Amino acid sequence: MRVQAESARVLVTVKATPQPSTTYGDTSCVAGIRIDGAEPSWIRLYPIAFRWLDGESQFKKYDVIELEVRRRDADTRRESYSPTQDSWRVVQNLPPWKARHAVVGQLEPTTTCELMKAASADGSAPSLGLVYPTDIDRLEFEPHPAWSSEQLAKMQARIDKESTALIPMSGSIPSILKEPEFKVRYRYRCAFAGCDGHQGRILDWELTSLQNRLRFEHKDVRAGVTEKFLDQMFAPERRAGFYMGNFELAARRGKFSVLGVYWPRIAEAVLPQPTLF
Ligand SMILES: [Zn+2]
Repeated sequence: MRVQAESARVLVTVKATPQPSTTYGDTSCVAGIRIDGAEPSWIRLYPIAFRWLDGESQFKKYDVIELEVRRRDADTRRESYSPTQDSWRVVQNLPPWKARHAVVGQLEPTTTCELMKAASADGSAPSLGLVYPTDIDRLEFEPHPAWSSEQLAKMQARIDKESTALIPMSGSIPSILKEPEFKVRYRYRCAFAGCDGHQGRILDWELTSLQNRLRFEHKDVRAGVTEKFLDQMFAPERRAGFYMGNFELAARRGKFSVLGVYWPRIAEAVLPQPTLF
């Protein structure tokens, strides 16, 4: 039986970097906070083939969107939903950071240690969460491998067979997705007592775009990425956290990556006071 469609209102907090896909050419995982229920909750929207959509159909981080979704039955992660393609409408964009924190700050932060432990034991444990690292040791860079011939073939197949694709496209056919120069990871500790430290690969689309821009401008990619993802985002006047997410593959459920960074100034990371009479 087909899963019932429902309408949702979502604050988009995460746009993960596109991955090669046979069915969709390349797709992104979008995550955010669902705000149409009694309490805000995490939601994952997959697939969305951003690069195949025209500008009108795209949306940005911290846009509030309304759309039609269906629970993804095949995925035991409770936050996973499939959007009805092109059903979304941008309602507004929340400016940095007070208005954003009024929503994000309502969700209880967690720790990577707890997320990993719970997800390894239970397929329906939380698969998204906000983690404030207690300290960051460094960023690690590893050359990103070139796409395999299999991945390239997947992407080419989508371009060749445009008319039979499952996701309608509204934009022009994009060029083959270019791989970033580096895989980048945070080395950090979470707030769990006795945390031994983690490596968190950054899957933020912003990181891929930044690397491509730096490369295009013939600038030092490592230096540019460090300046943005360490010096700016984790500057002393900010209270920055990681939007964490895990993998669908059951064997990798316990593995979490950094899908994006939440980096309000400390002074802005306050919840609005209830009005007193
Ligand atoms: Zn930890």
